[in-house]
Amino acid sequence: MDTSEKAFYRHVALTSDAPMGISISHAEGPFFYSTENRRYIDFISGIAVSTLGHRHPAVVEALRKQLDKHLHVMVYGEFIQKPQADFAGLIASVMPESLDRIYFVNSGTEANEGALKLAKKHTGRTRLIAFRDSYHGDTHGSLSVTGRDVYRDPYLPLLPDVHFFDFNDDAVLEAINTETAAVIMEPIQGEGGIIPSDPEWLKKVRAACTEAGVCLIFDEIQSGFGRTGDLFAFMGYNVVPDILTIAKAMGGGMPVGGIVSSSRIFESFMYNPPLNHVTTFGGHPMSCAAGYAALKFTLDNNLPERAHHIEKKIRKGLALEGVQEIRGKGAMLGMVLESFEMTKFVVEKCLDSGLLLGWTLHSNTLVRLAPPLIIEDDILDEAIVIIQEAVSSYGK
Ligand code: PMP
Repeated sequence: MDTSEKAFYRHVALTSDAPMGISISHAEGPFFYSTENRRYIDFISGIAVSTLGHRHPAVVEALRKQLDKHLHVMVYGEFIQKPQADFAGLIASVMPESLDRIYFVNSGTEANEGALKLAKKHTGRTRLIAFRDSYHGDTHGSLSVTGRDVYRDPYLPLLPDVHFFDFNDDAVLEAINTETAAVIMEPIQGEGGIIPSDPEWLKKVRAACTEAGVCLIFDEIQSGFGRTGDLFAFMGYNVVPDILTIAKAMGGGMPVGGIVSSSRIFESFMYNPPLNHVTTFGGHPMSCAAGYAALKFTLDNNLPERAHHIEKKIRKGLALEGVQEIRGKGAMLGMVLESFEMTKFVVEKCLDSGLLLGWTLHSNTLVRLAPPLIIEDDILDEAIVIIQEAVSSYGK
């Protein structure tokens, strides 16, 4: 073990007793390399972050330019910082008219925290509706609307007045009433096991929210920025939320998140009292410069279209005995296998062969498939062959 490895195991607070423990040397495009100089194909994109692969040249160049200008200068919301303002403008240009403003934060969970507060303040109500098997983050507010008891129970009591319903089930419709501040949901559940919402059901939820004056919050932290084959999944469903939360791929590998909503709704953060929701680092100039370059590249090169191509190739290549289902949309896919043992075997075998796959938090028979959208066909084919071999060698 070198000194960094020793320090990792001794001084870094770990999130489990079984970290993967690969020592990273560098990363480029769809690959990352270990200090032992092994090449891995990254088939989960740092959990839906590296949509443009690692160290995309456009992102690196934007970062270099910004580095020579300024880093942090003032808490969020006071100064006009070009990277932030330009990124806000670019995001607004791809959104429906009603989503014309963005509040920048640092992470996904922070975006959801802000979205919940915004909905409460805007409506003057406290009741929240969320879904079983959802995942919205690990801070208290986001955890309060996350639908999995094993993660919630150790931290109870959480926020009061949160009501959970089954995803894609009409039972929620009657519960959306004039005491409700918000319905928060992922249009495609990620950690729950890559579960797309039913288009008709989503329209009904939208209508019920409109009818009762409830803020509909879409958490597209995982599904955003082209991953599902649409720039944002809601665009494919043709259902516009009142508040949209984004992060992960947004910064092209840099940490940044955002709450996107209308000028009217955002007034709640401006008045009574002013400065009632602030952040020091939200929308860091480096992250916004990187994010602008990443989104520009995504749009100029029509990366969402590339997600459809990836989906077709994966569905075709992995129609195998032992694979029960390929679920999801675009390059946000899950491969359902027969058992926990098989899933573990396939994930480990692929890693041995230089392909990083992953699990989702709430499912133990599903393998996450989320390659960078810039992945070239030959590397995609290489990855598919590795998975085919792992699946077919199980039990042999
Ligand atoms: N919402 C969704 C849908 C997510 O997938 C995640 C992260 N997996 C989060 C929120 C939390 O994001 P972060 O880890 O940046 O706080």
